[in-house]
Amino acid sequence: MTLEYDVVIVGAGPAGSITAKFAAENGASVLMIEKRQEIGSPVRCGEGIARYWIESVGIPLDKKWIAYEVEGAKIVSPNGTEFCIDERHAGEEVGTVIERDLFDKALARHAAKAGAEIMLKSTVVGLLKDNGKVTGVRVDQMGKRFDVKAGCVVGADGFESQVGRWGGIDTTLKAKDITTCFQYRMTDINPDPNYCEFILGTEAPGGYVWVFPKGKDTANVGLGMQLSKVREKGDPKKYLDMYIESDERFKNGKILDMVCGAVSISAPLDQTVTDGLILVGDAARMIDAITGGGIANACRAGKVAGEVLAKCVKEKDFSAERLQEYEKGWRAQIEERLYRDWMAKEKLVTLSNETFDKIIATLAEVGVEKLNVYNILKVIEAKHPELVEEFADLL
Ligand SMILES: Cc1cc2nc3c(=O)[nH]c(=O)nc-3n(C[C@H](O)[C@H](O)[C@H](O)COP(=O)(O)OP(=O)(O)OC[C@H]3O[C@@H](n4cnc5c(N)ncnc54)[C@H](O)[C@@H]3O)c2cc1C
Repeated sequence: MTLEYDVVIVGAGPAGSITAKFAAENGASVLMIEKRQEIGSPVRCGEGIARYWIESVGIPLDKKWIAYEVEGAKIVSPNGTEFCIDERHAGEEVGTVIERDLFDKALARHAAKAGAEIMLKSTVVGLLKDNGKVTGVRVDQMGKRFDVKAGCVVGADGFESQVGRWGGIDTTLKAKDITTCFQYRMTDINPDPNYCEFILGTEAPGGYVWVFPKGKDTANVGLGMQLSKVREKGDPKKYLDMYIESDERFKNGKILDMVCGAVSISAPLDQTVTDGLILVGDAARMIDAITGGGIANACRAGKVAGEVLAKCVKEKDFSAERLQEYEKGWRAQIEERLYRDWMAKEKLVTLSNETFDKIIATLAEVGVEKLNVYNILKVIEAKHPELVEEFADLL
């Protein structure tokens, strides 16, 4: 059996579904292939997203996938100093805490409504190539193997992406550019119901602890640490357990589920397209290196990808040269921020608890209009110029 589509998408996460929606809506025949038997499940996510960018990727806000809404972000320094910021200015991961499985299914439903087909429990096991150009994928569907030909293959296969490598794009990550995470959904606890919390310091070496409320007595409580700082297998869980024990609010806590996973905290890739192939979302290393959040960027890049691919279908041209419109399009929207945050992350992971205390105290005292690296450094520079010396190239 050989199937044929204009566009075949590997992975039905946010990147895949938004790419599928925009490509199909603009006239492409699209097949999205997902290895899991259920889209969005099991969840591997802190489930924090901001409200403000959702509608810009063609998805209406929907109560069905919003678990809880918060006022903003609370950043806590190692000595307990708190800095709070309104959700509209707190970045792309703060505002709503979602039911990620329902969210991913909703995005896939939008893709299907636009005309995309979806194939579940089917794993892409390799790429088809002709004279170096990618021409489709080989699929394993519960032991049955078949090929799907396509004008363009989209690697939307997440952090553990293989599609890029198969296509000759270097997506290798160094240990210092990976955050390894462990999270519990806990109930019978007392999270601050108004804020998504980010707790900094050596509790989470090279990362942070998050508490994202999913209700008044329930929250996602997780920890991410830089892989290069892991000494023993199981360290993320060990550090998280130690943190939970130290925080009174969790003393009666019961665990409803556990999640482990990883995110890239690397600089953006040099290349995300080749002849007949593009990468989108985590597969293209589009995660913010400071927050570890990637849903917004996956959706934004997916929209660009879908729109460009639909044009390529009409022109019957999927060459790397033609696909530069995607390469330039996503970079114009998010590359500068990704790069700046990666550079800042390189320095942040070296700071002591005392320095974090000073930074958060300054932010709490002076405030900052919008939470981004440049604004934060400007505020700190005014009060503690010595603290920003190392970040001079970011100012
Ligand atoms: C613990 C943790 C907490 C996080 N918290 C947040 C957060 O609070 N906010 C935020 O914005 N981001 C968060 N992220 C990051 C966020 O989850 C990702 O950025 C987002 O999922 C990227 O979407 P994607 O579509 O690129 O990849 P994914 O959502 O990973 O989707 C990839 C899909 O491809 C499928 N797939 C893989 N290989 C194949 C194959 N060979 N064949 C077929 N299908 C395949 C997978 O099954 C998967 O469904 C977190 C990540 C982790 C690990």
